[in-house]
Order: sequence, then C-alpha cells, then structure tokens
Amino acid sequence: MSEKLFKFLLSEFKTLRVVCKKCKTVVELDVASLAAAGLPYKCPGPGCQEVLPWMGGIDRTNPLQELARAMLALETCKSVEVQLIVPDTGNP
Ligand SMILES: [Zn+2]
Repeated sequence: MSEKLFKFLLSEFKTLRVVCKKCKTVVELDVASLAAAGLPYKCPGPGCQEVLPWMGGIDRTNPLQELARAMLALETCKSVEVQLIVPDTGNP
C-alpha cells in the first residue's frame, strides 16, 4: 500500500497558530518574536486573559518560546535540515 506524504521544511514555518483551549480564540505568533519576547502571553479573547501557554503548577518553562527558539536554531544548523511530515489522509 502506498501512502502520500506532505513534507515541509521546518524553516518554512514563520508563524505559529495557537488556539486558546478555554475560549477558542486564535492567536498567530511570529516565530522570531516568540523566541525573543518575554512570555507567557495573555489570551486576547474577550474576558479570557488565559495565560498561553499555561502548563499547570508553577513550572516556569514556556514550551512555545522553547519551540520557537529551537526552530530558529535549527535554521542555521550546519549538519541537518529538518522536515515535518504530514500523511495525506484524503480528508480536508
Ligand atoms: Zn482564551
């Protein structure tokens, strides 16, 4: 059985689309800004103010910022090119 795959270069991704689980507001964050900015970010949804990302507890790491930093670091990596693979399920 053959399978169609979509391959995307990690370096092609310049924006992260974040959806607030509480109010469903969508926030698009520039990867470079996200890597540099002091976060966490407050959800701009009406009356929401949820901390994005809120990981629970007192963990002060911010996985969104770490992801953005890793993405930028890998863009300049001398030995690998990272691709993301998405299988084509035929569903829109
Ligand atoms: Zn929200």
